[in-house]
Amino acid sequence: MSINAEQFASDNYSGICPEALEYMLQANLGSAPAYGNDIWTQKATDYFRELFEIDCEVFFVFNGTAANSLSLAALCQSYHSVICHETAHIETDECGAPEFASNGSKLLIAPGANGKLTAQSVEAIVTKRSDIHFPKPKVISLTQSTELGTIYSVAELLAIKEIANKYQLKIHMDGARFANAVAAINQTPAELSWKSGVDVLCFCGTKNGMALGEAIIFFNKALAEDFDYRCKQAGQLASKMRFISAPWLGLLETGAWLKNAQHANQCAAYLENKLLQIDGVEIMFPREANAVFVKLPDRVIHSLKAKNWQFYTFIGVGGVRFMCSWATTQARLDELIKDIQTALA
Ligand SMILES: *Cc1c(COP(=O)(O)O)cnc(C)c1O
Repeated sequence: MSINAEQFASDNYSGICPEALEYMLQANLGSAPAYGNDIWTQKATDYFRELFEIDCEVFFVFNGTAANSLSLAALCQSYHSVICHETAHIETDECGAPEFASNGSKLLIAPGANGKLTAQSVEAIVTKRSDIHFPKPKVISLTQSTELGTIYSVAELLAIKEIANKYQLKIHMDGARFANAVAAINQTPAELSWKSGVDVLCFCGTKNGMALGEAIIFFNKALAEDFDYRCKQAGQLASKMRFISAPWLGLLETGAWLKNAQHANQCAAYLENKLLQIDGVEIMFPREANAVFVKLPDRVIHSLKAKNWQFYTFIGVGGVRFMCSWATTQARLDELIKDIQTALA
């Protein structure tokens, strides 16, 4: 096995897709104004407005933790709180950055089947306390697709939007795999975001095929006031911004953002199908995007690790996550399936 063989730990193990790389090379010809005052940033920003069918404010940052933390901080005062699922990346994988960036806004976590909040679970938290001794709920944070690889339908989003309106809550969407959600269900980016009540979307480029870079999209433009200063203060204003915005333009203009997500989803569907045919493998959550979660016996996990397969096992005992990306190949999937079969035999 080659050291660079495609892996299933995460979609951020993959390299840069050809379209993103090509635009990056184009942006490297000659010089350009710094700090986002370049044509690539202008074009990418305009393209997001076209794609989402709305006049929105767009900012680029280096990574998802910054995108989530800074956008949540823009929606909250320090005495406010953010409602999120107990498996949310902002709760489990950002080292307290959302609380840090907002000077203390508390995350209030809720349970929910398949990694999803529901209108009921949100309302239960909002109505539990209303006294001054508890941080006031201000934001609902949804991950699309979720940390468990499932997808909020438009109907589910609209039900949550209704609760948000009832209690004057803002909606933040962690779109680390937003493209995979769009690719998986027959809805437009607009329908899955602002038309379903999302005020700000963190749209991830890294996992979709870029080297790095996320777009923060404020559909509610008033909330973006002075956000450029917040990014700068946090060290998230790229001086050579075009090397984030040009690859974004490459993904958008060529349609690679959707093609990459479709490919990753199809690979996961293929893997799921093959695994379903193997006795002793149990699929843990509905496979709706590019992740497949399975229960495998410990000896199988050890055997796969010994063969240098990379995957995460952080969801309970025996839970294995196989994540597909734009770069996943069927040959590699077949190798994995064969090794699972061998280990089980
Ligand atoms: C990968 C990911 C992020 C971003 O993580 P960074 O490492 O900070 O770029 C955010 N949310 C979810 C759900 C993710 O999977």
